[in-house]
Amino acid sequence: MPDSILTKRLRALPSIDTLLRTREAATLRDEVGAERLTAFARAVTDELREELRSSPETDLTSDDGEREALLAEAARRLMLAVERERAKGLRRVINATGVVLHTNLGRAPLSEAARRAVAREAAGYCTLEYDTETGARGRRGARAEALLAELTGAEEALVVNNCAAAALLVLTALARAGETVVSRGELVEIGGDFRVPDVMAQSGTTMIEVGTTNRTRLSDYEHAINERTRLLMRVHPSNYRIVGFTSTPALEELARVAHEHGLLLYEDAGSGALIDLAPHGLSGEPVVRDSIAQGADVVTFSGDKLLGSAQAGLVVGRREVIERLRRHPLYRALRADKLALAALEATLEAYRRGEAAREVPTLAMLSATRADIEERVRSFAERLRSRLDPNTLNFLIIDGASAVGGGSAPTTHPPTALIALTHTTFSADALEQRLRQQTPPVVARILDDRLVLDLRTVAESEEDELLETLSLLQKITSC
Ligand SMILES: *Cc1c(COP(=O)(O)O)cnc(C)c1O
Repeated sequence: MPDSILTKRLRALPSIDTLLRTREAATLRDEVGAERLTAFARAVTDELREELRSSPETDLTSDDGEREALLAEAARRLMLAVERERAKGLRRVINATGVVLHTNLGRAPLSEAARRAVAREAAGYCTLEYDTETGARGRRGARAEALLAELTGAEEALVVNNCAAAALLVLTALARAGETVVSRGELVEIGGDFRVPDVMAQSGTTMIEVGTTNRTRLSDYEHAINERTRLLMRVHPSNYRIVGFTSTPALEELARVAHEHGLLLYEDAGSGALIDLAPHGLSGEPVVRDSIAQGADVVTFSGDKLLGSAQAGLVVGRREVIERLRRHPLYRALRADKLALAALEATLEAYRRGEAAREVPTLAMLSATRADIEERVRSFAERLRSRLDPNTLNFLIIDGASAVGGGSAPTTHPPTALIALTHTTFSADALEQRLRQQTPPVVARILDDRLVLDLRTVAESEEDELLETLSLLQKITSC
């Protein structure tokens, strides 16, 4: 572009002040603050200037027209820049993937009671470590821990930040500078960053692997025991299953051997269910109460997996073992916060009332049968049909499978009914992208080149919003 034309165009570029005086800027000022907005305006005008310098456009028809067009474009980009930054924060999403414990989407959604407890009891000042009866210092987590002990039949319980923290605390406090015996078939990795051998190394215990990947006998553990041994460890293979020619000793047998040698048996149950989930379609998940009854001295599990509450690491077991953990300096670094404890207490209360299956969303979602979901899908589809133009966006109801997720029950695929969306011009990838860029973002799955929505993980209270977003999708994609 000749220099004179470039100079002319650059002169038409709005100043930062002009941009800050637009209606768009005014609507953003309260949200982002004057200083940050000025920084955004500077970045937007810098970007436009660079584009003008490198664009091969010809001379302008009118200076005023160019000025106006550039200002409108700058204002549009200012809105977009703020929107993009906002999207990076923690936001509510609609999970239409059918993956119940979606780790990237925050695992378990909280029950109504848990949400209320977080907002009403814990968000402000609360009795986190305060006893209103005596006016003296109280014990953090006391109520949740009492409920956990009661629900699992354990003598005592302790709550920390997550199950990885619980495992680190147990191994450090009970087996540091000694040996921990574990089967080669149980060296699990969860989500790429929790690996049993790494946690062992970090805790300072020496991992003694016994048996083989598919078969480990009681005698393998017995042969490994010596004067340095501190723990026998059993790990629930949360996210994988070894099938075929396999064997592993029962927990009771391991407990007997551990106790005969004056050792402790530790089970990392991972997803750990508080109740038998077989009636909810999940078999093979260890029930923590059974592990305690079978002689485990200490059991750890997550608060936000099958239990269906906040992120927490739950430790239950024998009184003297739990007290050793509570006194260890690591506990101070790994303890749970008040928001998680409030949610956990409320969720555990539902279990104690015997109402968990009805009140805890993850259990209700897992229990939903194909027929339950199909009924919801049919009435949703009817409302959807009246809003969509079948010549643009079309859909079918198809059979499919949901997933438990969160490194739990990898072989369970609850049958479901899916809404499969197709667009006359846009690909499934393009639809998926547009859906997750809405407010709130809708996260869906792609299956055989179709975008599929699974209502199993969509709350009934979110259906109107989902409907609204899908109709909007049609408008966005068709212009
Ligand atoms: C999930 C899991 C963990 C880690 O739990 P977080 O709560 O995610 O820290 C540890 N051990 C096992 C066996 C698990 O399944």
